[in-house]
Amino acid sequence: MLLTFMLSMLLAITRNHHKEVRGPGYWAVGNLVVGLGMVLVLIQLDTPKLLFLPSLALIGAGLGLYLNGIQAFVGKTPDHRIPVALFILLVVIDVFFVVLQQNLRVAVSLGALVFAGIYFASARSTFSRDEGIIGNLFWIASSLFLLMALFMLGRAFAAVKADVAVFDNYAIWPVNAYTFMLGAVSQFFISSLFVLMLSYRLNQNLESIATIDGLTGILNRRGLEDSALKMQGICKRINLSMGVLLIDMDHFKKVNDKHGHLFGDDVLRQLTKIIAGILRSGDVLGRYGGEEFCVFLPNTTEKDAAGLAERIRIGVEKSLHTIHHKNIKGTVSIGVADSVRAGYDFKGLVAAADSALYTAKNSGRNRVVSFTSITRDSVSRESHVKESVSGDSAGKDNIAADNIT
Ligand code: GH3
Ligand code: MG
Ligand code: MG
Repeated sequence: MLLTFMLSMLLAITRNHHKEVRGPGYWAVGNLVVGLGMVLVLIQLDTPKLLFLPSLALIGAGLGLYLNGIQAFVGKTPDHRIPVALFILLVVIDVFFVVLQQNLRVAVSLGALVFAGIYFASARSTFSRDEGIIGNLFWIASSLFLLMALFMLGRAFAAVKADVAVFDNYAIWPVNAYTFMLGAVSQFFISSLFVLMLSYRLNQNLESIATIDGLTGILNRRGLEDSALKMQGICKRINLSMGVLLIDMDHFKKVNDKHGHLFGDDVLRQLTKIIAGILRSGDVLGRYGGEEFCVFLPNTTEKDAAGLAERIRIGVEKSLHTIHHKNIKGTVSIGVADSVRAGYDFKGLVAAADSALYTAKNSGRNRVVSFTSITRDSVSRESHVKESVSGDSAGKDNIAADNIT
């Protein structure tokens, strides 16, 4: 129980430092309340008539708070009526059956049934929530809650079947010893699981900070690379083409120079919304750098990707002209490539789209250029150079340099 109190403290401290993670506050208070209830049970063990008041009601309310914590942790709104209702229900059972009716058998059975109910509800709410490590921890918690629920059913059954003499000397009823031991162990185990879940959730938050772009809320370069790698694995395995778009805002420097960087930031946010609104589910959008965005498209050929790019280009041209009542000339140039020509490798795909983008910029901006078209051009130009400057390698170098940004 001392360990449980210490874990309570740990949860409370973490809760204070990481208010963004919801749940641990409930667990800390719930833990404390359950612990207090258990201490009271031990103190009152020799006076059976007072045994239930208010220790079991406290334990019930504490478990209700656990449930609230789980609800908050998984993003639901915690129902605060649960711990209050449990407290009242257990007090009513105690007052009615122990104090007034002096019928310990019914009180013990009903109390055990209520606890079975709480544990079943907790098992249900923790059943296979998330994927990954937190999901595993939830699964363990769920199994433990289920075990406790079954044990409580067993306790209710044992109380119904017990000899009358048991209730004259209730303190030494062996089932009590098992209940308290199992209760304390599961309590300690569950609160340790909560501490672990909290630590992994904080880790997850850090990971998402590391892969999300702070300005636009989409993936940053690292996140983009991770997602592209996953997509690449799948596309490669089932031999699907993977498309890529590299989108660069035209003359963005002028927007910044004219209206200031904060305005420029708003333009980037707006641009993100427009692009994201045109993409299909499964497409992965990220901010590649500055005012450059990158989109990876699963199961998409260069031709289809170019069609999508054209819709994005037109969408931006139509929608991005006034922001905060200021007129801007918001257009984008887009380079398109696919894995058929450029291979599945992230760097290769981006380099191919980048070459196409470079051509789009050089040929007047606000346009879509695909990698195939520039390589076809360079091949035909190359053969032309070969014909006109036979044996002159300098000619070839210039053509190659043309396609490198
Ligand atoms: P081009 O048509 O050739 O692409 O011209 P450009 O002016 O868009 O290209 P350039 O790469 O020269 O300029 C990019 C500008 O983007 C420079 C930089 O100040 C601006 N920029 C990069 N990141 C941010 C950002 O996060 N916020 C704002 N406001 N501006 C940014
Ligand atoms: Mg630009
Ligand atoms: Mg740029």
